[in-house]
Amino acid sequence: MSYDPYIVGLTGGIGSGKSTIAQRFRELGIEVVDADQASRKVVEPGMPALNIIADRFGAKMIKSDGTLNRAAMRQLIFSQPLEKTWLENLLHPLIAEWIVDQLQRAESAYVMLESPLLLETEQHQLVNTLLLVDLPESLQLSRTAERDGDPKQQIQSIIDSQMARDDKLRRANYVFDNSLALDTVTPRITVLHETFLHLALESLHDD
Ligand code: ATP
Repeated sequence: MSYDPYIVGLTGGIGSGKSTIAQRFRELGIEVVDADQASRKVVEPGMPALNIIADRFGAKMIKSDGTLNRAAMRQLIFSQPLEKTWLENLLHPLIAEWIVDQLQRAESAYVMLESPLLLETEQHQLVNTLLLVDLPESLQLSRTAERDGDPKQQIQSIIDSQMARDDKLRRANYVFDNSLALDTVTPRITVLHETFLHLALESLHDD
């Protein structure tokens, strides 16, 4: 017997704490599908997308170990918006297909879809409810800079390219305030977990 899993979307801006929060749900036995992993999977060696990219842009897009030359690809799409659209048109359906397949395979009481671009892409249409990891911009900047060692200007330009905090807050069903200390995270996740278990159970009754 197969049934549609109850899907909780998990999103938030750069450095907001998505991976940290997702890990706590994993520790509670919840399977997490990672959209970042999907975007890497679809261009792995042997996947059709990699050959299509090489056919269009030449062998320079493939490194000697057979993997995608991400730096060259980034540079190309940064300078050529039409090629960026072409690449998105190629990869987005493949990414969505991989995500849907993983969501369907999940066996936990509900399943989580972690994605930095859940609201910016059609991925939000896949989820039953949405949990936003929220953080003031100043903390996003300082935590990301500390984690990655990147210049704050570079991080700021990524923040500026993502959906505005207020818009995300308006669209979220649940908000996790991640400005609080790490030792407050687990108890608050446990409460949310109970809520999602309840929603998943209710959705079974609705079927
Ligand atoms: P990205 O979008 O860049 O992948 P992310 O949203 O997954 O980032 P994390 O990597 O989970 O964010 O968190 C960013 C940094 O903030 C990490 O170094 C993490 O350890 C730290 N962090 C997460 N939550 C807290 C917290 N509540 N208090 C202090 N530091 C935290």
